[in-house]
Amino acid sequence: MLIGVPSETAPGERRVALVPDTVARLIKAGNTVVVQRGAGTAAAYRDDAYEAAGAMLAADAAEVFAKAGIVVKVARPSSAELARMHAGQTLIAFLAPLGDPRSVEAYATRKITALSMDAIPRTTKAQSMDALSSQANIAGYKAVLIAAASLAKYFPMLTTAAGTIKPAQVLVIGAGVAGLQAIATARRLGAVVTGYDARTAVKEQVQSLGAKFLEIDVGESAEGSGGYARELSAEALERQRAAMVKAIGAADVVITTAAVPGKRAPLLVTREAVAAMAPGSIVVDLAAETGGNCELTRVNEWVASPNGVTIVGTTNLPSTVATHASQLYSKNVLTLLEYIIKDGLLNLDMEDEIVRGTTLARDGEIVHEPTLAALQPAVGETA
Ligand code: NAD
Repeated sequence: MLIGVPSETAPGERRVALVPDTVARLIKAGNTVVVQRGAGTAAAYRDDAYEAAGAMLAADAAEVFAKAGIVVKVARPSSAELARMHAGQTLIAFLAPLGDPRSVEAYATRKITALSMDAIPRTTKAQSMDALSSQANIAGYKAVLIAAASLAKYFPMLTTAAGTIKPAQVLVIGAGVAGLQAIATARRLGAVVTGYDARTAVKEQVQSLGAKFLEIDVGESAEGSGGYARELSAEALERQRAAMVKAIGAADVVITTAAVPGKRAPLLVTREAVAAMAPGSIVVDLAAETGGNCELTRVNEWVASPNGVTIVGTTNLPSTVATHASQLYSKNVLTLLEYIIKDGLLNLDMEDEIVRGTTLARDGEIVHEPTLAALQPAVGETA
């Protein structure tokens, strides 16, 4: 197959879909890889490294899109990029179908075969393709570093000749992939960490990282399918918010990562809870892009609350760790490509769980069940 890697064009996106090492693996397996000149530069992968790995370098994006049978990207294509794609081409990227199900219609209409890296089933078999996990891990790590670098306090406890410093108190809300990495990173920096998740199944994982688990009885189970949380009722969320005010008020740093797939992020840190925090405290809201876990969050802004708390709504933290984020994403993409390319041809077995879960559109049709369900008009609404 001819696999093409264009430069990312989304504002602030520094990652690249394939790094030289994985390009070499794809070429060894009999594929051809064409990389746009400069595609890896922002992630510190140079053109000569791609050339040494055997890639062809293309002068511009137009050449990559014209030549490639499979276009691999990080972010979903812009309308200009989509306009460059032609019928029969395959597209692999973070297409986020559930955030915008209508976007999938464009792939079907243009007869593009679209596979979404964020739709890969979270199963053991698909673990090394799991780009949501590889990138969420980085986001959790970087969220703690942002907080540590901005807090006017030490994280660790220190006993010095000039006095004893108490360790910082960190509360991590949402203990999925990003949250567990945030807990581990804050612990490594010496903070006293408390973790919380609506899914009590993660209690042991939180404790095994050396953190306390905040117990809140919300009156219903938050366990959804596939290890995810389900959306809680308004009453349960209200109970959660009320029960968390004290823990939030005692924290120097609150990292929020709570999410429910395909839904707005649950609102957990209220204006009142922020008002209970001490001046100089920091909230890093990793759910900013899907509405935010904190009432004061603004997307891609740092907000100062009236009582001197900073609320960080920066999105796309994996892009700020572009070298390793690209390396891990590239491995995820490579594993998927190795899974779907058979004897040099794309072979999408729709009976296969991973392929069925990941393919959004093919042969001019939307084939992804969750997207089709999201496109169903609500009762009373006309199509
Ligand atoms: P996510 O990003 O969808 O959600 C982050 C966390 O927010 C989850 O732990 C969720 O329980 C929590 N949350 C949702 N609503 C909440 C609320 N109201 N209050 C507090 N917390 C709330 O999830 P994720 O990090 O992508 O993954 C979640 C889980 O999926 C993992 O912990 C794991 O069990 C499973 N998983 C399995 C695999 C695998 O088997 N290969 C891979 C990745 C993840």
